[in-house]
Amino acid sequence: MPLCVGVRVSWLRFEFIFLVAPSFSMNSVSRLFFLLPACMLLLAACSNQSQDVRESRFIMGTLVQFTISGVEEGMALEAIRAAAAEMQRIEDVFTIYGTQANAVKAFNASVPGEVVALPGEVDSLLKTSIEVAQQSGDAFTPVIGSLSILWGFSLPEVPVAPPSELDIVTALIGVDTQMLVHESKGWKRLNSQTQLDFGAIAKGYAIDRGIAVLREHGIGNAIVDAGGDLRAIGDHAGKPWRIGLRHPRKEGATLGWFEASGDISIVTSGDYERFFLYQGKRYQHILDPQSGMPAERSSSATVISVANATIADAWSTALFVSGAEGLPLLESRGMQGLLVDADGQMHASKLTILPFHPSAQ
Ligand code: ADP
Ligand code: MG
Repeated sequence: MPLCVGVRVSWLRFEFIFLVAPSFSMNSVSRLFFLLPACMLLLAACSNQSQDVRESRFIMGTLVQFTISGVEEGMALEAIRAAAAEMQRIEDVFTIYGTQANAVKAFNASVPGEVVALPGEVDSLLKTSIEVAQQSGDAFTPVIGSLSILWGFSLPEVPVAPPSELDIVTALIGVDTQMLVHESKGWKRLNSQTQLDFGAIAKGYAIDRGIAVLREHGIGNAIVDAGGDLRAIGDHAGKPWRIGLRHPRKEGATLGWFEASGDISIVTSGDYERFFLYQGKRYQHILDPQSGMPAERSSSATVISVANATIADAWSTALFVSGAEGLPLLESRGMQGLLVDADGQMHASKLTILPFHPSAQ
């Protein structure tokens, strides 16, 4: 919205698999898997691809790929057209960038204390966001707008230097959900620095809505992949979907892959799509609401959940900020996490939902 840019988890591009050679270290459990003949397994998954219908659209600042299996092409294309329109609508409703007016921008520009009516779905996603903020100890927070805009990672021009300490401290005053007040007619903010930013959750919501629209069109087997954040439903001609997880430091390489069937969301927050280097230091777009600085504990945080991509999206950001110590919290909420920390060490929670198959290193 740009909620983000780029491909993180992409469903597998088999020709890249042979390039896998990550240099970071992994724990001993992961090493056991190195012996797997990963390439052969992945190639076996190529079967039946001819039956798929695939289309891409540029929405929310990223390439959204729709893959539909097992139905006739005309029906699939019509379903994709409707799902893409719905996802574009969601971008327009939630974005805080660009010139087109919406209620979120109106809220962010309101006089502190003024009550602003928010459309039902914005109201609802805000309530969900506040819940995740409370559950995650504010590692994820929807009131990070002034700080996001100050850093400018989602602006058309990538920033070249960090903002001043004074500007960061000023913006941080607003990064507090206590500054949001819900009233019968809408929401008010108590401080002009308190600005909404749905950048870490609205993409997941758009994916969920995209899947809902596909289903309304009779589609039961599909992947909606919004630049690496995806939800997969059904299966791939009777076999599980095989979904590769991008290596955070090696373009075109994977950390490993998942087999998904039923209704699974796999969402990743990574530090490799939106960043700049300044005086030899890397600054990336996921911000630590405590410090106002880019979060430093992780390079990639993946959340796997049953169905709900909205929640998985918010939690992938929370996990990225918290680092490996956020994994138990995630597990306690029925999700599964896979984290590559800032040193390249991989940490995984219990495999309650999907097995992960690390690539040969
Ligand atoms: P991506 O945009 O790469 O999918 P995320 O889902 O983690 O990654 O969303 C990052 C975006 O969310 C940022 O561009 C910014 O708009 C916003 N954001 C940054 N830090 C936080 C945070 N700690 N909590 C909530 N939103 C955040
Ligand atoms: Mg997110």
